[in-house]
Amino acid sequence: MQHSFRSSQPAAVAAAPVVIEKVETMLVDLPTIRPHKLSMAVMSGQTLMLVRIHCADGTVGVGEGTTIGGLAYGGESPEGMKLAIDTYFTPQLLGANANRVAAVMAGLDKGIRENRFAKCAVETALFDALGQRVGLPVSELLGGRLRDQLPVAWTLASGDTAKDIDEAQRMLAQRRHRIFKLKIGRKAVREDVAHVAAIKKALGDQAVVRVDVNMAWTELQAQYGLAGLVDAGCELAEQPVASAEALARLKGKYPIAIMADESLMGPATAFSLARSAAADVFAIKTEQSGGLQAAQQVAAIADAAQIELYGGTMLEGAFGTIASAHVFSTFRALQWGTELFGPLLLTEEILARPLEYKDFHLTLPAGPGLGIALDEDRVRHFRRDRTRVSVPTFA
Ligand SMILES: [Mg+2]
Repeated sequence: MQHSFRSSQPAAVAAAPVVIEKVETMLVDLPTIRPHKLSMAVMSGQTLMLVRIHCADGTVGVGEGTTIGGLAYGGESPEGMKLAIDTYFTPQLLGANANRVAAVMAGLDKGIRENRFAKCAVETALFDALGQRVGLPVSELLGGRLRDQLPVAWTLASGDTAKDIDEAQRMLAQRRHRIFKLKIGRKAVREDVAHVAAIKKALGDQAVVRVDVNMAWTELQAQYGLAGLVDAGCELAEQPVASAEALARLKGKYPIAIMADESLMGPATAFSLARSAAADVFAIKTEQSGGLQAAQQVAAIADAAQIELYGGTMLEGAFGTIASAHVFSTFRALQWGTELFGPLLLTEEILARPLEYKDFHLTLPAGPGLGIALDEDRVRHFRRDRTRVSVPTFA
């Protein structure tokens, strides 16, 4: 008997598995435009750990793992990530189905504890390859972007008030940034507050000023500091103290937003910070969260707790920055913008086409995957093991 059109069974549409064939990692050392002074480290260069995942259909995804000041910020370093991926991730990845990003990552989570930054780099590369395969930007694979442009703050961290004012005025004139985050916590509280007040006074209403103390203050210092910052016209203080308990005690005491950064290390800590009402704002970092999907989970917890959102950076290069931009573009609310300026802190371009920063925003690429491509010659020049590379290309 002939089946009618309506009763016919749909053809099997499950995509055939696409096997991961090769995983390669490299360290790329790039100089910064100036020393970047944080309370815990002074950076004069940045090391990117890049991972490339080659799939059987010819797609190659790229992901990045980058830290701030080597091991100064957390337990992972670019060198350590390379070692972990080469030794422990790669045997699990080879032969896995690259179409099933969540399944591959769940497998890695089962066999490998922690290593959030390295996992983020691998997940980024898998989404990049998947996006290229199906012709969609990573943001669409993550549920769909709500915005094509993200506001980008600039960090003033030269350590010198006059230099910082000059730098901010240049950024305003170029229409590149109008949100400025000042790195403080290296000097006495009174000096730091005077530094912030001088910068805010010089910039006036053309710009907003925020600070990042990077956990440097004791709770008592924070009491003095936050009161002074309110008078200085500063609108937000990022991680003034180290502990979540102290953050919770400080929140709401002064008319200045308290943002959690170092205390926020993924969904579990997000839940605990939300439960103790320890922050007005979360600085979500994709690497720190443990990956792209984990960062979305952090955002969901924040939304549920009515905590506002800011898109943070680990001072990544272009790949880590754009991966984060895809994630942040999917957030329902992004009340405090982002600080995705990492590539602008580096003197060297490693992309075939640079990212677009203009009119105080970063534009998300429209192409499939991450939507960006490496400049192979540049990368070959800056990779740490270049003297030992005997073949003209590492592709
Ligand atoms: Mg911070």
